Amino acid sequence: MDMSDSALSEEKPVSVCEDESDPTEIPTRGISTTKIDKDALKVVHRLARFGYAAYLVGGCVRDLLLKLEPKDFDVATSAKPPEIRKIFRNCRLIGRRFRLAHIHFRSKIIETATFRAEAEQSDGELLIRSDNVFGNEQQDAMRRDFTINALFFDPKNRTIIDHVGGLEDLVERTIRFIGDPGIRVREDPVRILRAIKFAARLNFTIEPATYQAMVRYRKDLSKSAPPRLLEEINRMLRSGSAVASFRLMWEAGILEIILPEAACYLSRSPDRDEEREPGSGLWAYLKQIDRSEREFLSNAVLLAAVLLHPVADASCNGTQAYGVASDSNATGEVARKLLEKIIGRLNLPKWEAERIQQLVATQRRLFTLRRNAPLPKGLMRRNYFPEALDLFEIGVRATGKGRATLARLRKAYRPQNPADASNGVAARRGAPASAKKSGRKKKRKRRPAQSRPYQRPAESKEK
Ligand code: ATP
Ligand code: MG
Repeated sequence: MDMSDSALSEEKPVSVCEDESDPTEIPTRGISTTKIDKDALKVVHRLARFGYAAYLVGGCVRDLLLKLEPKDFDVATSAKPPEIRKIFRNCRLIGRRFRLAHIHFRSKIIETATFRAEAEQSDGELLIRSDNVFGNEQQDAMRRDFTINALFFDPKNRTIIDHVGGLEDLVERTIRFIGDPGIRVREDPVRILRAIKFAARLNFTIEPATYQAMVRYRKDLSKSAPPRLLEEINRMLRSGSAVASFRLMWEAGILEIILPEAACYLSRSPDRDEEREPGSGLWAYLKQIDRSEREFLSNAVLLAAVLLHPVADASCNGTQAYGVASDSNATGEVARKLLEKIIGRLNLPKWEAERIQQLVATQRRLFTLRRNAPLPKGLMRRNYFPEALDLFEIGVRATGKGRATLARLRKAYRPQNPADASNGVAARRGAPASAKKSGRKKKRKRRPAQSRPYQRPAESKEK
């Protein structure tokens, strides 16, 4: 498909009616409105009733066309934020520069954004630092990252509106930047990680020019804000395609930039005479993460499952390759120093950094616990023990070692603070229901949203 500037500047949107016969079969037919969140539909219909253009947009349209369940439903509209607020009583405007409307429903928020134009660039620099210019519908499609993420769905007429060739790329299962890949990637290098995430999760191919730009400008990732990088790493680890995501990042030399210690661990594999595939420790852990009930695992557990491997390698096989100077060869000291370096770069909040240190430090102890040894009572009283057990479970499944210890710990463990009971698979299993209830009354220090314990959905089943 021709994605040259001239093709992009054509103002004619492709409007594909659901009922039209379509020689490519998928995906232009078959968005069933029953699959769309009722409240998102209400928002779109109400905006339309007041005379504004309003569509579902982005990931939800892509996923509906692919017959996947969308994670959330976003709305794009021609209404300006104060106009949206006037129409919806349940609306709050958020954001200082670019105001977004959050329309609140009982259990969810429908994010409703006014059409935006291409972001402003600061003097001669491509990197976008603010993204706050209103625009029209077509401009809103063009400022998005990939063609498959820029489709609008108009539920009233049941049409897909495609300004960027996204439908064709969905059929071809292709990830393609909108516009000039070299520019789009430098404007916002986090798009590199997003391309990897979508390619891995959807099993799509990255189009060659997009891929070349990602590889060529991968070092620009270090200019991006660490919390955004961390968020994308977390999303990859939670996507069910952690193995595929990390493989793609490793092959493209991207892991070297964002997690150089993990890349170092993988490249040192042949030296360690590993019997299985090089780097098998990390790959095996990632595979188990993909198979686990990830919604119950904390971000700290997921990140610790990755960092554990370079830390263990540095501790056992030498610190030099990892660039940590250590006066002592004590394993704990090496681990602490290396983790400090990684955690500092990722700019993790202090409490989460500490948690990762604790989780990594306990693994050796759990793996070396003898079958008949007394239970580590002190450790079991720690507030991080449920997460340590979650990480240990991933390790047991990945290595096939420590099964008996895991079973014994699970049986013996009862959380001291029942509020921990929802914080991971281990605690979820251990906590008696009554304890969970009473524990909620206890006041706990508020944690940042991304790391607050994941609530167990009522319908979820025990494994
Ligand atoms: P997911 O299923 O992971 O939520 P998504 O496509 O919905 O995928 P979001 O991060 O929720 O991704 O973003 C919503 C939409 O906003 C995207 O579909 C895309 O159109 C746009 N978008 C998000 N991040 C960027 C970015 N860095 N650059 C340009 N557009 C972006
Ligand atoms: Mg989304």
